[in-house]
Amino acid sequence: MKITQAEFMISAVRPDQYPVDALPEIALAGRSNVGKSSLINKLMMRKNLARTSSQPGKTQQLNYYRVNDMIYLVDFPGYGYAKVSKKQREQFGQMIETYLRTREPLKLQLLVIDVRHAPSTDDKLMYDWLKHFGIPTCIVCTKADKVPRSKWEKHIKLIKTELGAEPSDPVVLFSSETGGGREELWNIIMEAIAQ
Ligand code: GDP
Repeated sequence: MKITQAEFMISAVRPDQYPVDALPEIALAGRSNVGKSSLINKLMMRKNLARTSSQPGKTQQLNYYRVNDMIYLVDFPGYGYAKVSKKQREQFGQMIETYLRTREPLKLQLLVIDVRHAPSTDDKLMYDWLKHFGIPTCIVCTKADKVPRSKWEKHIKLIKTELGAEPSDPVVLFSSETGGGREELWNIIMEAIAQ
């Protein structure tokens, strides 16, 4: 995918702050430090547009990035950070639930998981939520360069089993270091927005 335009658009907390131009949206969810910002930067071929390792758990908002005047990437706050207060957890829950339940332009959710680790309880909850709302989901396993290629299959199998993922959910192995998986992921995104 050739990127001709990529820019941060807006941070939204409530539906009245979502963009109104009805471009298809691809959302990203994952625990903090999973490599979500690096993934977004790599997809957009920009070094620092999505802030990597920004204060985990602090920004309880949806960050919208506009790409090629064609789609929005919608970055959810990273979850699972120990120091988040109960109130922040509740705010996160309400914001995400509202988005997933009401957001018509949402075409595909990327559930971002570190390929080295089994999914967390929060990952499983997020997956169950996505299925509950009937949202097409792609599991993106990050940091693929940290696991030998010969072990990829085993790790993917474990992640899918633990999530209780449907066999039809696509899984992409991604590395922000090498760019591996980037084209495959863009192909899945393009297919999703064509539906
Ligand atoms: P976020 O909190 O999910 O946005 O995670 P970041 O994108 O900030 O990444 C967290 C850490 O993991 C940073 O030190 C990144 O450099 C590192 N990281 C992210 N993706 C990869 C990857 O694909 N391979 C390797 N080796 N490190 C990565």
